Amino acid sequence: MDSAPTKIAYFDDMWLLQSTAKLVSQIQTEDGRQALILDSTIFYPQGGGQPSDTGFISDGGGNFKFFVEDVRMKDGIVFHYGKFDASETFTTNLQKGQEFNLYVDELKLNLHSRLHSAGHLLDICMQNVGLAHLGPGKGYHFSDGPFVEYKGTIPQNEVQSKQEELEREANALISEGVKVSAAVLPYEQASEMCGGSLPSYISKDSIPRIVKFGNYPGCPCGGTHVGDVAEIRSIKQCFKSQFSQDSHAMDPEKLGEGIASGFPGPDLTRPNPKSPGLNSQIQPMGRV
Ligand SMILES: [Zn+2]
Repeated sequence: MDSAPTKIAYFDDMWLLQSTAKLVSQIQTEDGRQALILDSTIFYPQGGGQPSDTGFISDGGGNFKFFVEDVRMKDGIVFHYGKFDASETFTTNLQKGQEFNLYVDELKLNLHSRLHSAGHLLDICMQNVGLAHLGPGKGYHFSDGPFVEYKGTIPQNEVQSKQEELEREANALISEGVKVSAAVLPYEQASEMCGGSLPSYISKDSIPRIVKFGNYPGCPCGGTHVGDVAEIRSIKQCFKSQFSQDSHAMDPEKLGEGIASGFPGPDLTRPNPKSPGLNSQIQPMGRV
């Protein structure tokens, strides 16, 4: 198998819904699925708390549609997992170098982008309402109960007011609109864009991708985002403490409700069963 990394075309344009790419290899997986590896892709591979894109790949000649159900990246190579819906004359022996058309599901891309951007927006709002001392942990941007974990303490009697303040701040920024940009930059420049330093998990030899909301400091992130936070539409926050009363700690849990007008929204009253808790190993939000 060709070991050259897949070109991540959405780094150049996060909102591309169609592209072309050449086949590198076709794999039959042990669980009976097929995987296509292409020289470039606009499909987002699951990671960084964001689910993968779905969609389909076709040859343009009407011989097949390959429905992409899941996308993963391993060692820089993107695997498009799915199934063929093929014509009678179709043979699954595809030729290396054959050019295919890629189509990403627009509704899912938009929803995932909004949920991911909402996570970053929450982080900005935490700074703006004086909760910068609560370090961000794991981000989960799936539609079944998105959240961002924060680690730290605030007085118990401030939890309610801080929740309201956060919600107001987030919705004010959504109303105002703030442009979102993303760029792959040399380490030093990336560091400057992020307020002078980068997290230790970013290698100094790397050229990280930095996502920036307006003039707020950027952060390394490989995900897809809205072009303007106005597209998030609204945010409803829900705080969920996973500490005992004594510790006066909290875990704000963001549920993307209102986020969802026009989309199937999660149940706002349901605690998130996937939240691993603040004592578990957590990774910084928005990591590459
Ligand atoms: Zn991110």
